Amino acid sequence: MIHREVLIQRKIGECEEKIQELHKKFPRLKEIADEVSRLSYELISAGILKKNSFKTANIDKEVKLLLREKELILKANSIPINIYEPEWNCPKCEDRGFITPGVLCECYTKEKLDNIFRKSGICGNMETKKFANFEVALYRDAKAMQEKVRRCREFARKVVDQEKQNNLFFTGAVGRGKTHLSLAIANEVLKQGGTVIYKRIDDLLDIIREYKFNREENPEKKGSQLEYLKKVDLLIIDDLGAENITPFAQNQLRILIEDRNNFDKAWIINSNLNFNELQDFYGQRVTDRIIEKADIFAFESEMSIRELLKKRELESKNK
Ligand SMILES: [Zn+2]
Repeated sequence: MIHREVLIQRKIGECEEKIQELHKKFPRLKEIADEVSRLSYELISAGILKKNSFKTANIDKEVKLLLREKELILKANSIPINIYEPEWNCPKCEDRGFITPGVLCECYTKEKLDNIFRKSGICGNMETKKFANFEVALYRDAKAMQEKVRRCREFARKVVDQEKQNNLFFTGAVGRGKTHLSLAIANEVLKQGGTVIYKRIDDLLDIIREYKFNREENPEKKGSQLEYLKKVDLLIIDDLGAENITPFAQNQLRILIEDRNNFDKAWIINSNLNFNELQDFYGQRVTDRIIEKADIFAFESEMSIRELLKKRELESKNK
């Protein structure tokens, strides 16, 4: 996050330097500025002391004349009138982040959104995985796949609207499009302003392990990371089954899924394991927590999508 106070002070400092330069070059402008500020002060005191309105009207007139002269000097030298203003990143809120107290500026909302994207773990190439470039035609049963894509779009919408729904368990061999489709959901949720965390299971377990076993150093940051795993609108766990499955992993996965199920927080799990293997590796308790609130999507195609795409690329080159 930008430290807005620091930014504002810096912009004001830069502006003051710019005005000093200008006044060096055009001493009359400095005289005018000094005179206007002296008169303004007089005007305020007169107002406080409730002096006669004839005097205040005269001061007012004098100020207007000076400002007019300033305007003419600027114009004659092709200097923009806003030279006296700091160069705000967002002129709308002058970089404060709000328009009036309680009314946030859109630059603040955008900054927050950028921050959510950074925290999501989705970066680079992952941002290009969309529903629009998911190729249903590559699947053996394209129609069934089309229906799954429809359900995934609906899933994303319900996450954003915070509607209750079943979670998703994607199973299938490597390169079958599980990751693409879960990223398409994630990107859609992020675009709509929802929060997402996308982590491979081993990275996720590392975060939990760090918190449990190295709590002393920087406990606040680690605690908040763990809290965020529980609270984020959508948690996507990629590559379940590829990690070293230990009692610690089993237990932590169960707790995390249980917590999220209890608070109706959405999750997606991608796994190369089929359902029986999941039971064998993770045991009944974990499997129960997963299936109790999830739809299972099997990703099947004659060969892997990656291989198909590569084959197609080669064919087009050979033509
Ligand atoms: Zn703004």
